[in-house]
Amino acid sequence: MKQLYRLALSMLVLCVGGPQPEAAARPLKVVATLTTFADLVKTIGDESVEVSAIASPRFNPHFIEPKPSDVLKVKRAQLFVHAGLDLEAWRGPLVDAAGNTRIMPGQPGELDLSLGIVLLEIPAQTPSRSQGDIHLYGNPHYWTDPDNLKIMARALCDKLSVLDPSHAAQYQQRLAALLLRLDQKTAEWRRALAAVQGQELVGYHNEWPYLMRFAGLHMEQFLEPKPGIPPTPRQVEFLEGYMRQHHIQGIVQSSYFLPQAAQVLAKRTGARVVILCQNVQELPACGDAIAAAEYNVQQLTAALRPPGP
Ligand SMILES: [Zn+2]
Repeated sequence: MKQLYRLALSMLVLCVGGPQPEAAARPLKVVATLTTFADLVKTIGDESVEVSAIASPRFNPHFIEPKPSDVLKVKRAQLFVHAGLDLEAWRGPLVDAAGNTRIMPGQPGELDLSLGIVLLEIPAQTPSRSQGDIHLYGNPHYWTDPDNLKIMARALCDKLSVLDPSHAAQYQQRLAALLLRLDQKTAEWRRALAAVQGQELVGYHNEWPYLMRFAGLHMEQFLEPKPGIPPTPRQVEFLEGYMRQHHIQGIVQSSYFLPQAAQVLAKRTGARVVILCQNVQELPACGDAIAAAEYNVQQLTAALRPPGP
């Protein structure tokens, strides 16, 4: 018994004093601003990453108030993943408060997912916030397009492989599996959307141009008179006439915007309110990035399908 005790003690000394390979195998600490980004990181990184998201998907991602615990998470992060542009109005103050030099802009621990994306709606004139505008550098809601998810997944895999080369092969394998699944799903979704091609919808906030492009649909007018400015009675009145004139059947909004304006407009025009998932876990049906995209496609096709015989 005494010998066993000595052996255990000597092993403990060896473990503590010797090299610690388990330290190298610790999961990479990743913080993402949005749940959709965190979901992609988890899919590619699996057990090699420890990832969390700052913004709850049940709130407007433009205007989150990070908590002290979020500052602490960013302080400890080895990788910080964000949307770039002016999507997260709260990102700069959060990064400054965390004071983590590894994840500051331009450092190896930062990943701006917008960098690989072909942006839509880049303003021709110099940006100005004078009238409370957001989306000053182009439309920042690019991850709602399933084709853009593939670009983002590749960028995440590259970054994880640089920061943690010992698991690069596994990251590549999981990326390949995700891309294959996305290829299969996007083909399926395009077939379903073919039935409603070319139709126009109106939106609450201008956050769907990438999904509209993917779906072969149009969205030109919004309940918000400008991005970030809440609906006004005048705008609702304008949209009522516009929707009648253009025979528009659907009003699209995320779950976190107040429903009243869309409901009033729907009642006056006979159109349907279509609630889509902007981010993973915004609604129970949107458990991961593929489920969220599938849910959105299903909602759009259901709302726009021509009436049966
Ligand atoms: Zn926006």
